[in-house]
Amino acid sequence: MILFNKNLKIYYSTLINDNRYFSGFGTKDIGDGRKIETILKFLKINQIDYKKIVIPDQIHSVNIEVFENKNNDLIQRIDDTDGIITTEKNIVLTVVTADCLPMIIVDKNLGAIGISHQGWRGSVKKMAQKMVEKFIQLGSNLKDIKVALGPHIGQCCYDIDEDRYYQFKQEFDGYSEKIFHWQQGRWHLNLGLLNYLLLQEIGLQKHHIDFFPFCTKCNKKQFFSFRRDKKENYGEMLSFIIKNE
Ligand SMILES: [Zn+2]
Repeated sequence: MILFNKNLKIYYSTLINDNRYFSGFGTKDIGDGRKIETILKFLKINQIDYKKIVIPDQIHSVNIEVFENKNNDLIQRIDDTDGIITTEKNIVLTVVTADCLPMIIVDKNLGAIGISHQGWRGSVKKMAQKMVEKFIQLGSNLKDIKVALGPHIGQCCYDIDEDRYYQFKQEFDGYSEKIFHWQQGRWHLNLGLLNYLLLQEIGLQKHHIDFFPFCTKCNKKQFFSFRRDKKENYGEMLSFIIKNE
């Protein structure tokens, strides 16, 4: 279940958060997640104990870094990466999104945490499945993996051009009836549902996938949206996960 924490101003998954695992999908109220001050302030005011913040330099790839902490720097940026996984404690893994889909993933049995960013490019390239595959390489059993799919642009607002439509249709023809709908003369894509289906396809149990129901573009009060705000100065939402001692 996805719940809202009013004090922290984050959404979080009850599949993931407990006394050791802390994760969330930030709202606008936290600030622009692209700014390091936003992350530092959020961690400070909520008294979160951490050694390092890991920030991938997202490029809409399916590159995944298995992070090992090798220095004492407080902040570490990782080039050309859209997914980060670690088994280490007190490391804050982050991504930022504004319409794209953030995904948080854990295997509490293995003690691994991960986070990834997938827009349409990452989704066509099945980033969500690649994250699961990487967990399995690290020693996970499918039955232990739990995932939360965060706030993203809903199919209500995500119209796509013909090229993109055919690209998705070619890759995911079996899902066409579920992930596309025709509205006001344009194809619309349900990015969240596609990723939900991809996770099931690779073998995750339905009840181990939390799925965020709101649209970032429709909900201006809580979320940044690239499509809605691109003409103004837009921000991006912070998503994060950390495993404590
Ligand atoms: Zn919408």
